[in-house]
Amino acid sequence: MNKIAIIGPGAVGSTIAIDLLATHPDLRLLGRQHQMLTYYANNNTEHEHTLQVTPLRTVQDQVDVLIIAVKIPQLDAVLREMKHLIHEQTTIILAQNGHGQLSLFEHPHVFQGVVYISGQKSGSTVMHYRDHKIILEDCIKTRLFHDIVAGSSLEVELTNDIDDAIWYKLLVNLAINSVTALSRRPAEVLQVPGIKQLCKQLLVEGVAIAQAENVYFDDDIIDDILTIYDGYPNQMGTSMYYDIISGNALEIEGIQGFLFKKARIHQLVTPVLDTIYPLLLAQQKD
Ligand code: NAP
Repeated sequence: MNKIAIIGPGAVGSTIAIDLLATHPDLRLLGRQHQMLTYYANNNTEHEHTLQVTPLRTVQDQVDVLIIAVKIPQLDAVLREMKHLIHEQTTIILAQNGHGQLSLFEHPHVFQGVVYISGQKSGSTVMHYRDHKIILEDCIKTRLFHDIVAGSSLEVELTNDIDDAIWYKLLVNLAINSVTALSRRPAEVLQVPGIKQLCKQLLVEGVAIAQAENVYFDDDIIDDILTIYDGYPNQMGTSMYYDIISGNALEIEGIQGFLFKKARIHQLVTPVLDTIYPLLLAQQKD
């Protein structure tokens, strides 16, 4: 049987672990330290599970599938600490938001997953809200992964256009994460006069950057994303909002920073992004 490990016992990693444990009881959920997690599925405190987290440094066995579900600023440390877990043929799935992180890997079989799993970790409790989906590039390795997890609750969607899926999620995250983090207010900040217009302008710039990278969307993508934002409950936070109010490092370099650098390479005029990005950087404490 294929050996599977997940690094990052947070909202995403724990959900994937719960999904896969039913069919892969040997799966290891690896974290920084030993921990017993209480996990609630589907935003329901009656659906309680217990999850054991094993310290990454104590595991010696190599695995065939390694899923990494840490936040972007935590990836460098994981890359230093995970080498003993992989062999030449290990399939590594990076279950993260953002773009550009694959360039940090030397391994030949690393795939960016576009994650549609919603949840929140607080202390040793994980509340899963909804969804169990990860989108991956369609290739031999990911088809094998698809087969390995068949029968579990994890939905693996394979696509021939992973760039499209990554960029779409990147754009959805771009504006709402920026305005909620900078204002330190959840989605209700969209009701403040001018904020929706700010989101729209940021998305116009993001779509232009995507186009310069040969990723083309339909004309109505910006309206579609703004409609998604309109559907957010007022009290819903974003990951960057929760990170900023908790004093955690922000995933700026994979989202706004990635786009900022691409805009410079393509010599695009992106005044809103050029303002948002340093303002976000200024929120980070070293
Ligand atoms: P999270 O809840 O903060 O979980 C990250 C986990 O990684 C934490 O448990 C953390 O440990 C652990 N970790 C950090 N450094 C580690 C290390 N060196 N070794 C082992 N474990 C380490 O993050 P998340 O919400 O699951 O997000 C993961 C990725 O998915 C992010 O890119 C996020 O943007 C993306 N995403 C999240 C959601 C969502 O709804 N949560 C939705 C879509 C995409 P500690 O517990 O010790 O801090």
